[in-house]
Amino acid sequence: MTHFDYDLFVIGAGSGGVRSARLAAQAGWKVAVAEEHKPGGTCVIRGCVPKKYMVYASQFGKAFKGAKGYGWSADNVRFDWATFRDAMLNEVERLSGIYTRNLGGAGVELINARATMKDAHTLILHPEGREVTAKHILIAVGGYPFKPEDLEGVEHAITSNEVFHLETLPKSLVIAGGGYIACEFAHVFAGLGVDVSLVYRGDKVLRGFDEDVRDHIHAALERSGVKLITNTVFAKLEKDSDSVINAHLTNGDVLRADQVVLAIGRVPYTAGLGLEAAGVALDGAGAVKVDAYSKTNIDNIYAVGDVTNRVNLTPVAIREGVCFVETLVHGRPTAYDHSDIASAVFTQPPVGSVGLSESDAVAQHGEVEVYKTDFRPMKNVLSGEQSRMMMKLVVKADDQRVIGVHIVGDDAPEIIQAVGIAVKAGLTKAQFDATCAVHPTVAEELVTLKDKYVPNKG
Ligand code: NDP
Repeated sequence: MTHFDYDLFVIGAGSGGVRSARLAAQAGWKVAVAEEHKPGGTCVIRGCVPKKYMVYASQFGKAFKGAKGYGWSADNVRFDWATFRDAMLNEVERLSGIYTRNLGGAGVELINARATMKDAHTLILHPEGREVTAKHILIAVGGYPFKPEDLEGVEHAITSNEVFHLETLPKSLVIAGGGYIACEFAHVFAGLGVDVSLVYRGDKVLRGFDEDVRDHIHAALERSGVKLITNTVFAKLEKDSDSVINAHLTNGDVLRADQVVLAIGRVPYTAGLGLEAAGVALDGAGAVKVDAYSKTNIDNIYAVGDVTNRVNLTPVAIREGVCFVETLVHGRPTAYDHSDIASAVFTQPPVGSVGLSESDAVAQHGEVEVYKTDFRPMKNVLSGEQSRMMMKLVVKADDQRVIGVHIVGDDAPEIIQAVGIAVKAGLTKAQFDATCAVHPTVAEELVTLKDKYVPNKG
């Protein structure tokens, strides 16, 4: 029988890789995980975690303003970027340390190296060049921000990777993109007092979300002072002698800013990994092709998380990892069900969404009923804050199942986590209605929506 150095070798210590490695080691497998940077991956090191801290930092500005309506005086408040940034990065460091300790505690060997594949069972650890073998390999290397190399002056732009490390808070910022990252950062920086322009190639941000969500966030961006420039993209970027960047747009406009951020999607991190040497098949976007059990076309090689470009969210990578261990280590084939995944966009106000948008529901199921409400939340009345709350239920007409819930407003991410259980469980509108309201809350609207929305009268 062939001897391998490891039962399982995981490439990448992000959300999916770490969970898989720990569970496999706890089941008695000899496991190693290679990480070229710090354990934690995109989520902990340069994504969800520091982003959420930036959202919190940004929200204080509005809170100080709103506090006046409640009798507080909060004059002469000021924000110090360096103080906040260092605190945020210290916390990221602390969390990465916890990831490292948890791996060790589970008996996983953490190898601080870039691992590439020599063949389906052999890995090369760089820069040392040492080779190790593994019976099974899990690819969990995630993705990285897309930077179009054919854009003249692209070197002057930064991405979400660098945003958390800025030396100083820019006075002005141009962001390209209209997805999660672009919209979240536009609100974050506008809230910190930065002059923000958002350049988007379409006509309304957050494509793929329910139309009502898109309308609300588009309007919210404008209300928070973000200059939205739509139906255009960067033609080139140039840096002045005074370090100001000129962003030339294809519509002829030129925007001047201290920083330019590209948030135009992410790319699976498969290049240079030696996947062709191992015979692993990729799709047209460079993502590792996998079956429902996260297995690649090579029997002993699996992949989870963003590198497979299925649903690119941390909790999904973790669930895929759990299913991978169930399948391979415990011999219980388990496919992760990617339907009805609740998610949030941390704009201000934030979005919480689960299930189908109204248009996708109509396309898939034909007749649907829509219940929706749009109101000024109680808290905003005294604070003077103008943002509104939107809640929407999409109900399948024939069996009355609630197949989509879309919320924009404070606490929407918290609310959607709970209501996601009901949608995943396939509950009906009548079961929502049979649930007693919690008063006074904004979420009570979810169980008190009575009138079907009729477009012309709505
Ligand atoms: P998204 O895929 O969400 O958005 C990319 C945006 O860039 C879209 O608006 C897209 O336009 C635009 N775009 C794409 N290519 C180009 C191009 N060549 N030129 C100009 N514009 C372009 O990517 P993000 O980078 O915002 O985020 C990546 C992923 O990370 C998300 O999809 C999500 O899975 C995850 N994420 C999740 C978060 C959360 O859960 N809160 C937060 C941040 C990221 P168009 O709409 O026309 O395609």
